Amino acid sequence: MPEVSMDTIVSLCKRRGFVFQSSEIYGGLGSVWDYGPLGVELKKNIKNAWWCSVIYERDDVEGLDSAILMHPAVWKASGHIEGFTDPLVDCPACRKRFRADHLPGEGNCRRCPDCGAEIDLENNPPRMFNLMLKTFLGPVEDSSSTVYLRPETAQGIFVNFANVRNSRFRKLPFGIAQIGKSFRNEITPGNFIFRTREFEQMEAEYFVKPEDAGVVHQEWIKQRQEWYLNLGIQPERLRLREHASNELAHYAQACTDIEYLFPFGWSELEGIANRRDFDLRQHAEHSGKDLTYLDPATKERFLPYVIEPSGGVDRAALAFLVDAYREEEVKGSKRVVLGLHPELAPIKAAVLPLLRNRPEIVEMSRKIYTGLRKKIVVKYDDTGAIGKLYRRQDEIGTLYCVTVDVQSLEDNQVTVRERDTMRQDRINVERLNEYLTDKGLA
Ligand SMILES: [Zn+2]
Repeated sequence: MPEVSMDTIVSLCKRRGFVFQSSEIYGGLGSVWDYGPLGVELKKNIKNAWWCSVIYERDDVEGLDSAILMHPAVWKASGHIEGFTDPLVDCPACRKRFRADHLPGEGNCRRCPDCGAEIDLENNPPRMFNLMLKTFLGPVEDSSSTVYLRPETAQGIFVNFANVRNSRFRKLPFGIAQIGKSFRNEITPGNFIFRTREFEQMEAEYFVKPEDAGVVHQEWIKQRQEWYLNLGIQPERLRLREHASNELAHYAQACTDIEYLFPFGWSELEGIANRRDFDLRQHAEHSGKDLTYLDPATKERFLPYVIEPSGGVDRAALAFLVDAYREEEVKGSKRVVLGLHPELAPIKAAVLPLLRNRPEIVEMSRKIYTGLRKKIVVKYDDTGAIGKLYRRQDEIGTLYCVTVDVQSLEDNQVTVRERDTMRQDRINVERLNEYLTDKGLA
């Protein structure tokens, strides 16, 4: 198990502005979270790294941003209205609701995880509870106006398959990728931002000839695993887990999860599934539109198979935070460092005047700061003594601290301190941009 606890991460996130509870001043809303000033940067960096890797660094994937609200027929075709359900039971003693398959105990003899009362599933059979969040479109609230907040971004891609293919003159294999919010009315959300009712997904649907699906599936698993490792996740905390045939979703032929060792155990970060032609076939049938692909070489018509890497932005953010967190002993005191990968760090550099009551130092610091902020995310901080400022920046993962002191006024040099090694270099101000560029920042 990793040494950092969830309590430590939750507390750091709140204290330093990564994640706040939603509507906190009203007592919060269950399992809904807001991303603060640093959290929004971290999330943006994660999404950007994904977008680069899945779209810009390949030539066979197109981007998309489809709407959260979709025609209700989509969810009938996709199987979500019928099958996107969890078994729900009420505890007979405390009346709290749980997912029957998550209750401790065996077979029909389960226990309430809250009050400990016995729950007999034979006499108290679970009801199937649909996880889609509903709302109404237009001024009339009745069943004819019911729409759903999408429970996955994937269906927005499938219904746009022909639009993207035709507008971008695509031949197989090619993919469509998007990042966006999805909603699931989970009965038992939890573990901070790991399982929430409103969350953000990074999904791609990669369309292939059916006979190529197996090989392409393996390629995507490898590529997605490497993405996490390249962004600094410790290899011993990342593993692949292939789904057994009895846990596969109804649409999938095969699925492999990428799991991370969270403080609460191994849990899914991302699933890479072979969805066969299930979705396109369903949508073709329900919409009456021809979604087949005509192979220009063989003149064969068929429905493509789909390989789907589907990851959670919030889960990735939590994994990167947990993985980066470390405590060190420095000269008898504790130093907390968020060793985030340079691409993910919310703030790349901080400019710190050593003496904030010396106008020349402040002026020089501000000048350096305004120069740097055209290139990188940089902050100016004069709210404490230098030791304290260093610790604060370490704790939020800032890569470099640039300090201006009395000496700087004479020799035009500043001290640049690196986060991980705490190594300090004296750098001429004229060379600062170049120095940070060499480090892969600017
Ligand atoms: Zn109970």
